Amino acid sequence: MEWLLSMPKVELHAHLNGSIRDSTILELARLLGEKGVIVFSDVEHVIMKNDRSLHEVFKLFDLIHILTTDHKTVTRITKEVVEDFASENVVYLELRTTPKRNDSIGMSKRSYMEAVVEGLRAVSAVDIDFAPHNTDGNPVNDMITNDICNGTTRKKIYVRLLLSIDRRETTEAAMETVKLALEMRDFGVLGIDLSGNPIVGEWSTFLPALEFAREQGLQITLHCGEVPNKEEINSMLDFLPQRVGHACFFQEEEWKKLKSSKIPVEICLTSNIRTNTIASIDIHHFANLYTEKHPLVLCTDDSGVFSTTLSKEYHLAASTFGLGKCEMFQLAKTAVGFIFADDGVKQDLEGIFDLAAKKLD
Ligand code: 5GP
Repeated sequence: MEWLLSMPKVELHAHLNGSIRDSTILELARLLGEKGVIVFSDVEHVIMKNDRSLHEVFKLFDLIHILTTDHKTVTRITKEVVEDFASENVVYLELRTTPKRNDSIGMSKRSYMEAVVEGLRAVSAVDIDFAPHNTDGNPVNDMITNDICNGTTRKKIYVRLLLSIDRRETTEAAMETVKLALEMRDFGVLGIDLSGNPIVGEWSTFLPALEFAREQGLQITLHCGEVPNKEEINSMLDFLPQRVGHACFFQEEEWKKLKSSKIPVEICLTSNIRTNTIASIDIHHFANLYTEKHPLVLCTDDSGVFSTTLSKEYHLAASTFGLGKCEMFQLAKTAVGFIFADDGVKQDLEGIFDLAAKKLD
């Protein structure tokens, strides 16, 4: 486990509000309990419950959003989440979040995202590169390039943002999110994710916003096949997103389509097992995709909600599927090829992995 922890890693599927520390959630719940907004003992039970169905997970997210959706808290959790990922040697993090509007506290989707960016600016435990270029093309963050493995310099993490469209949203709301993503490109926003309760909403509702996003050069990743919905899975694959998340309920036809299109899959082992999307780890589609050399990347999904870390996900894959040090290192390194950031970042990351490879033996 120690070597997996020290190995550089790339995280491409992490939801901000799903990655909150338990301690932070409990602290926020206690505070709201004291104010009489919630009954702490009821909420504590929901937060600490370990096994949740996919349906219960979305109920938990509604609760988390009540606890976290004010500007100050959004800033705090962003900072903490980034520092937590960096502490386990995640060198590149694509963090996704759903911009939220809450008129009662003067929050717009934009001000929500500004609070997220504030959180990136507030990161202090490590060096962070989150907005690579000013509008004039010069780097915003001219930070020391660190050797992540030598322990003598501060760690550095690259963070880029994806804005999520929630499946509960209308076409207009989805379009608003895409426009916001376009306005915030200089703050490291690279693309759009489609997520939220998979039994809610229709593909046709989101398609216009996703097509617009693509036309404008944003990259797209879709939660795909979390529930059995053949028609939607096929529509999503025909759309040819840059990546898909999960891919659990695929049948032969969809596997064929996925494999011929070579769309990389964001694999979230613990999340799939905890939510019973996959019955047991030994039959997870990771094994087949890995064997067939289909592009894939191990991810946490919601490290707070599912009590996991990226190192634990690598450990789970290694121990279940009998993969050794070199294979796991190679798996982590190939993920660099699937990031949404530009070639400059890719080269930096490859340099980090090359350096780490020398210390592997
Ligand atoms: P946020 O976008 O608020 O930062 O992160 C939490 C949100 O991400 C949830 O409310 C939900 O919309 C989405 N999310 C988190 N985990 C999952 C997942 O496993 N599947 C899907 N479809 N959406 C998720």
